[in-house]
Amino acid sequence: PVLRVAIMGLGGYGTRVAGAMQYCTKAKLVGAISGTPKKLTDWQDSFGIPAKNCYNYQTYHQIKNNPDIDAVYITTPNGLHHDMALAVAKAGKHVICEKPMALNAVQGQEMVDACKAAGVKLLVGYRMHFEPHTLEVIRMRKAGELGKILFFRGLCGFKIGDPKQWRLNKELAGGGSLMDIGIYAINGARYMTGEEPIWVTAQETKTDPVKFKEGVDETIQFQFGFPSGATASCLSTYNQNNLDKFFLNGEKGWAEMQPSTGYGPIKGRTHKGELNQPVTTHQTVQMDEFSDILLNGKQPVVPVDGNEAVKDLKIIDAIYAAVKTGKKVELSL
Ligand code: NAD
Repeated sequence: PVLRVAIMGLGGYGTRVAGAMQYCTKAKLVGAISGTPKKLTDWQDSFGIPAKNCYNYQTYHQIKNNPDIDAVYITTPNGLHHDMALAVAKAGKHVICEKPMALNAVQGQEMVDACKAAGVKLLVGYRMHFEPHTLEVIRMRKAGELGKILFFRGLCGFKIGDPKQWRLNKELAGGGSLMDIGIYAINGARYMTGEEPIWVTAQETKTDPVKFKEGVDETIQFQFGFPSGATASCLSTYNQNNLDKFFLNGEKGWAEMQPSTGYGPIKGRTHKGELNQPVTTHQTVQMDEFSDILLNGKQPVVPVDGNEAVKDLKIIDAIYAAVKTGKKVELSL
């Protein structure tokens, strides 16, 4: 069977996913939800979506009565994910949600609970969890080829443009760079080390308080401690370009990736040489894998479900708390 997906929020990322889905073999774009009528007719033309599978934000609860849609992929601004996911669950459809899944862990847990109560599954767009170079480093670490893991470093950032965009609006974004790009270092620290942090420290710096208002972080550096004694040191910023780098160090070896989370091609090397895995379109692979997870119960190597996303949100909450208090925050995930 093929997973039949409707995309909600036809912006930059939704359009990228729609394009990538044209190459899927196990998932198909069959529907769209938008507040802009012209976008819906454009998508009908571009992607062969039937008009009967198109909805707006006032009508999409009716998707409940549409047997031709299995899942709704939410690609709207962060602050809308929670309420939309609850509505999709209520309509009896599987929820696929973009990262960050919600604005905080409380919201995230509500989404997990609502999907469970509705008997639908909840997956989050963690495309790196299916990326071949990333999976090879995880395989090497699990096989003991790096030895005991000692340290992870994640650098994630870009220089953000238009000051009026939703990414710089506290209500819609939930924060600043950490919510948007720093989350890759948070999630990466977890899948690269294979451990959950037990403490967090963090420091914020801001060079432009006009562009980056109260509650919208420009740059945050944060550190994790793990149960094994390994540590991580990360940087999240909206004020530097070309910042997309992971480094994992162990007693017997190391891995380095740059770019590490961009759309690709991902490049990297280890103490054994260049990583030469196939270059993929992340969104195509992700949607085929999501099909296997939702329809066939496949277990991914690194989880992509709501509980996985809640862990990232708990860490984000802890980083913001550490920034505010200047103190170490203990975590138990
Ligand atoms: P975008 O601004 O390009 O698109 C957002 C869409 O939501 C627009 O079409 C907009 O019209 C629509 N929208 C609906 N209600 C809205 C409202 N009340 N206010 C503003 N917009 C509204 O943003 P994007 O870059 O596509 O990001 C969307 C989501 O996808 C975000 O959660 C982001 O973090 C995520 N994202 C993920 C990746 C990834 O690699 N996984 C990449 C980019 C974005």
